[in-house]
Amino acid sequence: MSDVYNPAQQRVIDLLGRTDERPHIPDGLADELRAEIEEALKPFHPVLPDGKSYETRFTLSKRGLSDVHSCEKYFVDGIGPFEWSTANAKGTIVHKAVEVSINLRHPMPPADLVEEAVSRLANDTSKGISDFLTTLDEFGRAELIGICTATFTRFTENFPPIKRTWIPQVESPIALSLAGGRVRISGKLDIALGKPPDKVILDIKTGGRDHSHTEDLRLYALIDLLSIGHAPRKVASYYIEDSVIDQEDINEASLRSTTRRLRDGLVRAIELKIGKVEPVLRPGNKCRWCLHNNDCQAGLDFMAELAERDGW
Ligand code: SF4
Repeated sequence: MSDVYNPAQQRVIDLLGRTDERPHIPDGLADELRAEIEEALKPFHPVLPDGKSYETRFTLSKRGLSDVHSCEKYFVDGIGPFEWSTANAKGTIVHKAVEVSINLRHPMPPADLVEEAVSRLANDTSKGISDFLTTLDEFGRAELIGICTATFTRFTENFPPIKRTWIPQVESPIALSLAGGRVRISGKLDIALGKPPDKVILDIKTGGRDHSHTEDLRLYALIDLLSIGHAPRKVASYYIEDSVIDQEDINEASLRSTTRRLRDGLVRAIELKIGKVEPVLRPGNKCRWCLHNNDCQAGLDFMAELAERDGW
């Protein structure tokens, strides 16, 4: 008997499901793209850490790459210390619940699964979120569990149940080593389904849509191509609250443009870190969270323009 899905789940299957149509990725593309990035990094070998240990590498994440292409001053020193809040804790807890739900042999009610995820994260002192969760009072904890349960329940209602035959990998770290180990591009896949060449990389989003999400996923596709030799067939962001998927096929053109984005961002990030160039200000959405948004004139002008445009 074939599976019966509700319309929201069927939409996901239709958009992400296996198909015989696959973009052609030429043989040798991985070598060519890697060589393009390696060539750009060659002048920096003498000034980069030696890469002999985990600590002595120049590491760039998808967020760092996005930041350096946004505002360079924000990338250098605008981020400030990370602070846990109900909003970012929600993302971590819902991701944990999704991760565990895929491998549970016996389904649990969403509220129980979220409760368990909160307890486990609170007890794991190696996780930054632990302090935040253990210092919440009873009201705050109950409120957080309620918010997370609502989001996770929505996921279970609108996303098709993930079968083991889809070969799911959850919270899977990926990395690309460059310049003889001196440079590492790192990331973590929320969910990957299927095997190459049918693999689909999926990010689960508990917040709103942003164009950077697609760029992040293209970077993951490139990392897969350069590290394991196969690009995924498709990448997608699934927005739980809107029950919407933004997806795109991975093809030669997107891999080439992502290579240029990574190459240029890496070169710029290294130049900024070693103080070879002055950061270029590029006001934009990052201004909202930037440490300099009280004294940076470009940022102040942008925020004023935004306030006028939004009518606030
Ligand atoms: S306020 Fe905006 S323009 Fe200024 S440094 Fe921060 S992100 Fe850049």
